[in-house]
Amino acid sequence: MIDRKSPVFVAGHKGLVGSAILRRLESEGFSDLRVVERKDLDLRDQSAVDTWFESERPKYVFLVAGTVGGIMANSTRPADFIYDNLMIHGTVVHASHRVEVEKLIYLGSSCIYPREADQPITESSLLSGPLEPTNESYALAKIAGIKLCEGYRRQYGDDFISAMPTNLYGQGDNFDEINGHVLPSLMRRFHEAKEEQQATVEVWGTGKAKREFLHVDDLADACLFLMDNYSDLEHINVGTGVDLSIQELAENIRDLIYPEAEIVFDSSKPDGMPRKVLDVSKLTELGWKARVPLSEGLTSTYKWFCDAKARGEIRE
Ligand code: GDP
Repeated sequence: MIDRKSPVFVAGHKGLVGSAILRRLESEGFSDLRVVERKDLDLRDQSAVDTWFESERPKYVFLVAGTVGGIMANSTRPADFIYDNLMIHGTVVHASHRVEVEKLIYLGSSCIYPREADQPITESSLLSGPLEPTNESYALAKIAGIKLCEGYRRQYGDDFISAMPTNLYGQGDNFDEINGHVLPSLMRRFHEAKEEQQATVEVWGTGKAKREFLHVDDLADACLFLMDNYSDLEHINVGTGVDLSIQELAENIRDLIYPEAEIVFDSSKPDGMPRKVLDVSKLTELGWKARVPLSEGLTSTYKWFCDAKARGEIRE
């Protein structure tokens, strides 16, 4: 087990994943959590990151910072997605090596796998075929992150591990209708359609693409589990192993928020990868499995959205 009293750095603590990890570590009794605001440290700047690491000397690092977004953000801002993520992974991994961080976990994404990978996707299908074009820049940066961790382990023996989560959701997500991922974007669209009593709600693509959704609290739990129990070269998938079509997801969200609405598919928008479900047998064999059922996660996430909106924390 990693030491609960040592300094731990959560890089990206304001995001969906970082904030969930912080909550999980606090509830676990970690007593020396270190975070830094973006305005105080640009994680893309190696010398600034080195200086910060030299003064803070974290013993453990959760590297979950990065530029993220849904299918539209990925396809319209490929430069930001590749540059920001490549730089952030590079600076944090390198600085961690320099100050002899004892253990680091890096989070990638299930979009690293080839578009035509066999489903459910096993860890070994990495780099076995061409990527899905709508998120190629992000995927390439994420693959580079895996290879960084592998490289520092091979060359220097650093205990740097990589986990690949499936599509995530939960409190603190980006509910932007254009730039967010499907689940929060649809929640917002159904919510606003209900407020305005619109008869129909638009869902992008054909509705036939299939995705797997993991609640971010489950992911945070898995990250701590891996920090305590996993130390190897190969990256490891984190998911539920269960997927559903975007149509089914949209119906679940509609039934929760605005059952009277009619769903209309906009097939001029891309579907992205036809199917993306992870083979989670490696993690299951280690003794971890997801706990939050989708129905429960949707209800709690929607409640969080309504509360955050009432507090004025959701951008209009
Ligand atoms: P992806 O897993 O990288 O493709 O990420 P997304 O969460 O952005 O999209 C997942 C799927 O949901 C794609 O097939 C989208 O076309 C579909 N989708 C349907 N409606 C929406 C929406 O309002 N926003 C987003 N982001 N995706 C949507």
